[in-house]
Amino acid sequence: MEHKCDISVVVPLFNEAESLPELKAWIERVMKEHGFTYEVIFVNDGSTDDSWRRIEEFAAQDEHIHGIKFRRNYGKSPALFCGFKAAQGKVVITMDADLQDSPDEIPELYRMITEEGYDLVSGYKQKRYDPLSKTLPTKLFNATARKVSGIHNLHDFNCGLKAYRCEVVKNIEVYGEMHRYIPYLAKNAGFARIGEKVVHHQARKFGKTKFGGLNRFVNGYLDLLSLWFLNSFGLKPMHVFGFLGSLMFFLGFVAVVTVGAIKLAHLYSGTPAPLVTDSPWFYIALTTMILGTQLFVAGFLGELVSRNAPGRNDYQIEKEI
Ligand code: UDP
Ligand code: MG
Repeated sequence: MEHKCDISVVVPLFNEAESLPELKAWIERVMKEHGFTYEVIFVNDGSTDDSWRRIEEFAAQDEHIHGIKFRRNYGKSPALFCGFKAAQGKVVITMDADLQDSPDEIPELYRMITEEGYDLVSGYKQKRYDPLSKTLPTKLFNATARKVSGIHNLHDFNCGLKAYRCEVVKNIEVYGEMHRYIPYLAKNAGFARIGEKVVHHQARKFGKTKFGGLNRFVNGYLDLLSLWFLNSFGLKPMHVFGFLGSLMFFLGFVAVVTVGAIKLAHLYSGTPAPLVTDSPWFYIALTTMILGTQLFVAGFLGELVSRNAPGRNDYQIEKEI
């Protein structure tokens, strides 16, 4: 792909009008100081304040500034997705609009991608200026994400400030609330060189966080589970469900044979035979055979679904000669 400039800065925002002028001026200053060619793509995620009017003003005065306006609020992931689609720079930087991330980090992030050969560099807010209710659960979250994803060198998966080689953002699909797991998405797409840089973090200057509340942890874990499952068995559901189903059915079969054998043994020896339903094996046989069949059918249905999935033959091809 032909790149239009060195750097595309993608900024998802939802009601951040007060921060925008300072953010824009700051990015501009850093870019000028380091002589980068650049574009800034503000993705207005259904703001109800003055944000879009500000972006229109910027774009009218400055050809580096572009804007995408959602008709309603979809969330940070869809905003990033559309920003990624539009980005044309060699390196793509994402940052939050609330001035918590510092544009001064951009040159070093850019250098790590272009010179050190990283595909993705994630910021690490080692010293965070957020309330304890945010930072503590985040530690737990990151530990789990490291384990599940196998990306052991990241401390801060969900840092808004990240840099990507352009190919990465063009080949991952950030949907739902998956922005928390972009490094994992990138890894699953075959981009293995994932690094980290300690970045400065500031307390929010205006407004308040858009990610309060507890349900984000529940949703976060469910998303992680989905990603793990999709990545491990998404293309071969029969391998997990079929295996579990067969195993259970086999157990049930053994139990049936046991129950039958006991009954027959008593009948032949002429001793009074206990009722089949008195034996625990009867109930074990019943449940495992039913569950086994169901698991097997789930795997088979999954297989039929994935056989028809439009993306079933989308492979990441790095080069062809
Ligand atoms: N954001 C967005 N859409 C949303 C929620 C948030 O585009 O539905 C943006 C928000 O404006 C900010 C960034 O995502 O630029 C990070 O949000 P926030 O600062 O509230 O998260 P925190 O830093 O508290 O984790
Ligand atoms: Mg913030």
